[in-house]
Amino acid sequence: MNLGIYVQVPFCQTKCTYCNFHTGVFAKSLYEPYVDAICRELADRGALHRTAGLVCPDSPKSGHGFRPADESAHPTRPLARQGACEDAWSSAVVDTVYIGGGTPSLLDSAEIARILDRLRAEFTCRFEEVTLEADPETISAEKAAAWFAAGVNRISMGVQSFNDTELAAAGRAHRRADVFNASRLLREAGFAKISFDLIAGLPHQTAASWADSLEHLLRLRPEHASVYLMEIDEGSRLGREVLTGGSRYSASALPDDDAMASFYESGCARLAAEGYEHYEISNWGLPGFRSRHNLKYWRREPYLGIGAGAHSYDGRERWANAHDPAAYVAAIKKGVSPAEQREVVTPQQALEEELFLGLRQLEGIDLARIEKQYNAGLRSRVEALRQAGLVEFDGTRLRLSPARLTVANEVFVELLG
Ligand code: SF4
Repeated sequence: MNLGIYVQVPFCQTKCTYCNFHTGVFAKSLYEPYVDAICRELADRGALHRTAGLVCPDSPKSGHGFRPADESAHPTRPLARQGACEDAWSSAVVDTVYIGGGTPSLLDSAEIARILDRLRAEFTCRFEEVTLEADPETISAEKAAAWFAAGVNRISMGVQSFNDTELAAAGRAHRRADVFNASRLLREAGFAKISFDLIAGLPHQTAASWADSLEHLLRLRPEHASVYLMEIDEGSRLGREVLTGGSRYSASALPDDDAMASFYESGCARLAAEGYEHYEISNWGLPGFRSRHNLKYWRREPYLGIGAGAHSYDGRERWANAHDPAAYVAAIKKGVSPAEQREVVTPQQALEEELFLGLRQLEGIDLARIEKQYNAGLRSRVEALRQAGLVEFDGTRLRLSPARLTVANEVFVELLG
């Protein structure tokens, strides 16, 4: 069995105007203790994993509470056996790692190496894909070389736009020139897998500036691209300006929904024309370059999240760590579980996840398998959606109509009843 490990680094240089993630600008003095805590959590989870499979550390089924790192690294009493899948769990091989954030490229490169070394020490690893999220302005020749030497083999760059007016209005710290420079440095360091993120719907974005960003992306030809539709979160500074008015964050310069949808659709067309395979609503890859780690989320495969706010799923339960980095570090230091929320996934939730996550992939889902597994009758709803042109169904596979991806949420609502 393969396992993905996600490591969350919640530090950013500045707070983007549209962002409402649990990330922020923290004192650099927190970086090292935070990485210490990440390494201790890896040691604790590694010990649990080796002994009893991947289980939430404070779950009743784990047979014990979360113990201090040095104690749990050498469990002194046997853990209750978990069931048939346990042996598969304890022999699981970590094949994908994703270090995301936040802006993990802000960390000293030695800290990235320390995290990966700890991971190798605690788990059986055969790394196929090790991704690091990096913002363009944080990338130097030295850092790129050190990341590569540490075992990172894929960089996901937060480009968002190639237009300096849009970048400035969004509160991004980089400019277009930084993306060109960073791409060159990464290639020189040896990276053969680079992904760019773009956002469709930034303030001041126009059809012409969007087309220009797409063309710059295609010229640099990353192996993978993600295009996200701008989501206005009420908790972000931009979202509050949309609600209450003002001009500081350019809320009045936001493109409307129709414009945003047309940006996305033109992105689909241009990327397809240049050989990128559209495999998930927001993701494209050149052949052989899909994100193996992210596919685990959409396929409901197990992953272990390490760090503040990181989520985990073991095939039965989902849990999330404390969001606040200081609270997370304090919990780990005390040997207390940082997991704050834990829930067993009910059959109904599992069915909803199968549909919601599965249909994000353009290859769709095996409807017959899902109906049988969950004893669910979905055919009449599927037929209504098919007649409306929103989905395609060949008798086995159900998928979103490629031309109607921008209304995917409506399909999910209809399908889930
Ligand atoms: S870099 Fe990412 S996580 Fe950090 S503030 Fe910007 S959008 Fe949020």
